Amino acid sequence: MTEQLLLLIELQNIDSAVRGINMKKKELPDKIGKLDEAFAALKISVEQDAKAVDDLQKGLREKEEKLKRGIDTIKKAKDRLTEVKTNKEYQAALKEIEGIEIKNSEGEDEIILTMEELDKLRSGLKIKEQDMESYRSRYEKEKADFEKALLATDAELVACQEKGVEIRSRIDGDILKRYEIIKNRNNGLAVVSVWKEVCRGCHMNIPPQLYNELLTATTLFFCPNCNRIMYPESPEKNG
Ligand SMILES: [Zn+2]
Repeated sequence: MTEQLLLLIELQNIDSAVRGINMKKKELPDKIGKLDEAFAALKISVEQDAKAVDDLQKGLREKEEKLKRGIDTIKKAKDRLTEVKTNKEYQAALKEIEGIEIKNSEGEDEIILTMEELDKLRSGLKIKEQDMESYRSRYEKEKADFEKALLATDAELVACQEKGVEIRSRIDGDILKRYEIIKNRNNGLAVVSVWKEVCRGCHMNIPPQLYNELLTATTLFFCPNCNRIMYPESPEKNG
């Protein structure tokens, strides 16, 4: 293989690395943003559940106070029983007490139901908080890794670009121009190997005569089908 061809292969590897780094520069901030969003959503969900627990607790306290007032009212009503003078008044007072007792009993049922609900909400919240904490450590580590990778891309890019400039300076101007044209036409792939008369770029057979010439070539050869620069793949590579 000629030196120029080896340089072209090296240049293609570097160009491909540059594309990869630029892709990372574009994708990493999105990935970090998605991690942030996912964690924020989890946090909001935990906060909402915590608020539901608070609200229910407040409701429970109100129900308990109402029951307490109801019990006081009965006590007072019972005290007044000793002061009533007529049977009619007595019957009316009993009826009032009975009414309050029914309400108190309903209040007790509500309190029990609310306590059960509160227990359920609290244990759900606890699990969610534990999940959030275990997610938090994963999230923070992943985010730090992404940020570190993003920070490294600038130095990687500069190194690749410097290497690219150096290699380009060693490639013949016409060959380089041709490489760039073929590269831009073929999504970055300008130099391809040929294995057993098949071009790895377009997967088409090349004429046997051309293949034989390629095996001992000292100049550049181009695939008659896709026009890419060809080089013979070494047999060792394929076993
Ligand atoms: Zn081809």
